[in-house]
Amino acid sequence: MPHRLIHGIAVSPGIAAGPALVVRWEVPEVPEQAIAPEAVDREIARLRDALAFAKERIQAVRRQAAERAGEEEARIFDAQLMILDDQDLIGGVERLIRDNHFSAERAFALKIVEWRGLWSTHGSPLLRERLADLTDVEIRVLTRLLGVDEPDVLADHDGPVILVARDLTPSLTVQLDREAVLAIACEQGTRTSHSAILAHAIGIPAVVGLPGVLSRVKTGESVILDGWTGTLMVEPTPEDAARARARDEQQRVFARELAAEADRDAVTGDGRRLTVRANLDLPEELSVAVNGRAEGIGLMRTEFLVVGRGRMPGEDEQYSLYRRVGESFPTSEVVIRTFDLGGDKFPGFRAAAENNPFLGWRAIRVCLDHPEVFRPQVRAILRAAAKARLKLMIPLVTRIEELEATRRIVEEEAAALAKAGIEAAASVPVGVMIETPAAVLIADQLSRRADFVSVGTNDLVQYTLAVDRGNARLASRFTSLHPAILRSLDIVRRAAAASRIEVSVCGEMASDPVALYVLLALGYRTFSVAARSLALIRWVARRLRAEDAEQAAPRLLVARTADEVAEQARAAVRQLVDPRLLEPA
Ligand code: PEP
Ligand code: MG
Repeated sequence: MPHRLIHGIAVSPGIAAGPALVVRWEVPEVPEQAIAPEAVDREIARLRDALAFAKERIQAVRRQAAERAGEEEARIFDAQLMILDDQDLIGGVERLIRDNHFSAERAFALKIVEWRGLWSTHGSPLLRERLADLTDVEIRVLTRLLGVDEPDVLADHDGPVILVARDLTPSLTVQLDREAVLAIACEQGTRTSHSAILAHAIGIPAVVGLPGVLSRVKTGESVILDGWTGTLMVEPTPEDAARARARDEQQRVFARELAAEADRDAVTGDGRRLTVRANLDLPEELSVAVNGRAEGIGLMRTEFLVVGRGRMPGEDEQYSLYRRVGESFPTSEVVIRTFDLGGDKFPGFRAAAENNPFLGWRAIRVCLDHPEVFRPQVRAILRAAAKARLKLMIPLVTRIEELEATRRIVEEEAAALAKAGIEAAASVPVGVMIETPAAVLIADQLSRRADFVSVGTNDLVQYTLAVDRGNARLASRFTSLHPAILRSLDIVRRAAAASRIEVSVCGEMASDPVALYVLLALGYRTFSVAARSLALIRWVARRLRAEDAEQAAPRLLVARTADEVAEQARAAVRQLVDPRLLEPA
């Protein structure tokens, strides 16, 4: 029988071959059950027991995670513990029991459906990714209430297996025994989902986002998972297996090559020094960035402080975190991006659901409308900036007024902190993310008033090409090599240069070796890349020649299509860099 090859997203490298074990860590079915009015108190007591039980189990798993993967990774479970403590959630469930006489399990399931709906329509990919935490919590609470056993991942099989699941939630991942699980294959998930981060930390090869894998693979079938290319091969032939082994060896050799050069700076073949910083999505990645020798953090996303919690983070909590991240880079800068939140879910107040959240009440718009959210963040950054080299950056800017208003708030808060005798920096540099066509077209005006600009190519591509960044059907149309994006990048770089301010790229484009060539051609020298791509990007940079790339810029800028740009860039990079890098991952 010929093999079947399923393509997904590679999230943790390595190749494994063995029998599949299909597991279903799934939310149990909840009967539609009402209770008698006199049973309300008993039902609420059952709910509290289940919440306490779930908390205990998650704390146990957290301890296990700390032992297996380390304290940073174990912190992922704090998000789940916070969901269980959320007064909005628990109060809402109790109200459904009291007012509607729903059983505890039905009330809990309904409330989770409501939360899931709000989170999944959210513009922020991070919030969507936190759905895995919500599912973990839901499974634990409902299995307790319904008196059914939590699914046991590793029951019923002999010997090592390749685990196949819908979405490997954080709890499941950490319960895995490295000896018993050779690799992980998931139907859902993205490159930055928690499970991906954990699988990588534990060192298990993993591929996520494999369409239909649950129905296409049966327990016991032989499979090969390739965590380098992001594929799962079902019923491989012996030749397939030999090829996979050869590829694994080749990748290991390359990984050793990267590691051997990990200490070397990003200096191009013709001697131009580049700056390569890291993006930080979650504090768990801090050690990856530090160990990867990031020259600071070019984009610290702060949404995780809000997402999945029932309340806004306090100023002191933010201060400690920003200070900790800042102090991890004593000789370089850390750029804190202010909350890039959407309008559908917000602790403390709630906006009406929006028909078009990507064009809705988001990011800097929300912050400026709600000073009680924004000002504590600004104060925390100013206070931490007394201890570390921090900068503040605002997302989704479309109007100069947004920058001016932010500057006023920074000045006012700095003055208030000084007056109150609280230790804080007198000011912090304020930068602007260039993520919309509007920001590109007024980049000259923004550059005259900002201390620095950074191009967020993920959103810039989305808004310029009108292609939803999360829509798999449009994935082939979502490209940073479109001529419109190249022209935008050119405009922004020139505008920043005219005002003599720093310009960088912090979108995913900078983590792609071929796109890096294009960015060098357009004159970019400062990048912020995925923490795991640091060594690769420096390795590629050392093999490229900035001057040659710059000479190609006029040709790249008149290319008619993204394919033409890609072809020119690939051809140039292929001459200089090992072609293995250019294979689709
Ligand atoms: C971007 O849009 O390119 C960016 C870096 O921000 P985010 O991915 O958080 O929207
Ligand atoms: Mg963005």
